[in-house]
Amino acid sequence: MQLRIPGPTPCPPEVLQAMSKQMINHRGKEFSELIHDITAKLKQVFQTKADILLLTASGTGGMEAAIVNTLSPGDKVLSTSNGVFGDRFAEIAELYGAKVKRLNFEWGKPTDPNVIRQALKADGKIKAVLSTHNETSTGVTNDIKTISAIAKEFDKLILVDAISSLSCINLPADDWQCDVVITASQKGWMVPPGLSMVSFSKRAWQAYAKAKMPRCYWDFTKAKNFLEKGQTPWTPAVSICYALAASLDSILAEGLGNVFARHARVAQTTRDGIKSLGFSLFPEEKYASNTVTAVKVARNTSVDKLRQILRDEYDVVLAGGQRKLSGKIFRIGHLGWVSQGDIEVVLQALKRALPRASS
Ligand SMILES: *Cc1c(COP(=O)(O)O)cnc(C)c1O
Repeated sequence: MQLRIPGPTPCPPEVLQAMSKQMINHRGKEFSELIHDITAKLKQVFQTKADILLLTASGTGGMEAAIVNTLSPGDKVLSTSNGVFGDRFAEIAELYGAKVKRLNFEWGKPTDPNVIRQALKADGKIKAVLSTHNETSTGVTNDIKTISAIAKEFDKLILVDAISSLSCINLPADDWQCDVVITASQKGWMVPPGLSMVSFSKRAWQAYAKAKMPRCYWDFTKAKNFLEKGQTPWTPAVSICYALAASLDSILAEGLGNVFARHARVAQTTRDGIKSLGFSLFPEEKYASNTVTAVKVARNTSVDKLRQILRDEYDVVLAGGQRKLSGKIFRIGHLGWVSQGDIEVVLQALKRALPRASS
């Protein structure tokens, strides 16, 4: 089966095998070795010396944790959004009582760094910037390097949702001064859902010292104190940790640069193939993501029918559009364990199914 959705993604055999190992004491020596090994390797992929905390959660849990560990109710934050996941970041901050200034950009277009600069200039009380690296709902990658540099020009904290990009698209957390970077196991990491991994800089810890949002399960001081003992505060998803250790070994064996280059190549093959079938890309190609391709569908084509034929007759599973993009686009996930050959299978199936889903 070609599971080509932007998460959960397929897992290679060595990752599945790693998960079949027997349970261990999560307060014992073996788990301590495992979490230290995982954390050290994650630091290489995040390209950071900051703390990395492992949370038993999907990505949204990591986003919530990032907010409650850095902010207080009443804090002003700037939240940028060009899709479903940018909106989600703003919603979580609002739910916990932050005063959120939302900067919304057209779906399919990138976040405009200049608008962020203007907003930070206009309001000196803003404490933090929330931004999405790769907007999975629209297939757009935002220029986090520039966005982060602007946040730092104004000495603001920056929280980055890199859930569907980290390990696939370059995001050097320290070089780009990203204070908090959030990702999740089921996206580019080739691991089943269950873990969110979050980096937390010195500057983020300074914010933590003043942050008053309520937190218990997500409290990063607890996470850090337990990590020093080689543990997590609460029972971890042990099997997913085994899986992550195995996938980190293959990511690092391939080499980060090679992994990024493979994603860029596979994404280009996807975009070229899509266009040659007569589709157009939903986002501007210049900002099109290397992990997920959003494809516009002509009015006479039914996205539901197309996806159904692909699934039932070709064993190819694609994602639809979310919210206002439902019925207008479909999305091809090409993150993690993916090759040019996988995409060729998808393109062949699309070519055959398309006429039958069109009137
Ligand atoms: C998948 C994803 C999330 C989190 O979703 P979960 O279902 O909670 O893992 C958040 N942001 C982006 C950009 C994502 O792709």
